[in-house]
Amino acid sequence: MSKDLQMKQVEQELVLFKKSPLYTYRIKNSYIPVIGEGNLDANIIFIGEAPGKSEALSGKPFCGASGKVLDQLLGHINTGRSGVYITNIVKDRPQENRDPTPDEIALYAPFLIRQLEIIKPKVIATLGRFSMQFVLKHFNLEKELDTISNIHGKIFKIKAPWGTVKIIPLYHPAVAVYNRKRFDELKCDIKKLL
Ligand code: URA
Repeated sequence: MSKDLQMKQVEQELVLFKKSPLYTYRIKNSYIPVIGEGNLDANIIFIGEAPGKSEALSGKPFCGASGKVLDQLLGHINTGRSGVYITNIVKDRPQENRDPTPDEIALYAPFLIRQLEIIKPKVIATLGRFSMQFVLKHFNLEKELDTISNIHGKIFKIKAPWGTVKIIPLYHPAVAVYNRKRFDELKCDIKKLL
């Protein structure tokens, strides 16, 4: 089956994901589950936390203020949204932008894992601490876990079923919206994805 069809299948299952406690909230607000967007043959995948309001209304990841920061960062490595794949761990908006719970992360994680198996990225850039914690644990790097301020920009190499993958924790772009220092750190870290 083509990558495109495989991803469509994941999306259809997400649309019908009534098992999630966020499903009723989605329907009540006419929100759309945010599967992700970009190039299914990309070398680089970015993994954020969960959609906010604008993302849940449009069905697209990172389309608010933090999305603008992410676009600028992509520009720094001479690419754009069509050159990478961008998604989140949790695909539905948690109420009032609260943090995703460990149960929600566990519930939605199989979708993300299937997306990784479809795209087979060479580089995984985690955005923020929830994504960093999930990805490092998933690839058996739990002992490397530390605060994001200690390990942002650090390169972890793992063997995935599809080959060698570099995992690089990045700050969440939201922290750089009003913080020049964080933006400069992100600008420096993003070069390591290449
Ligand atoms: N924050 C995230 O983690 N993901 C989005 O899609 C938007 C904001």
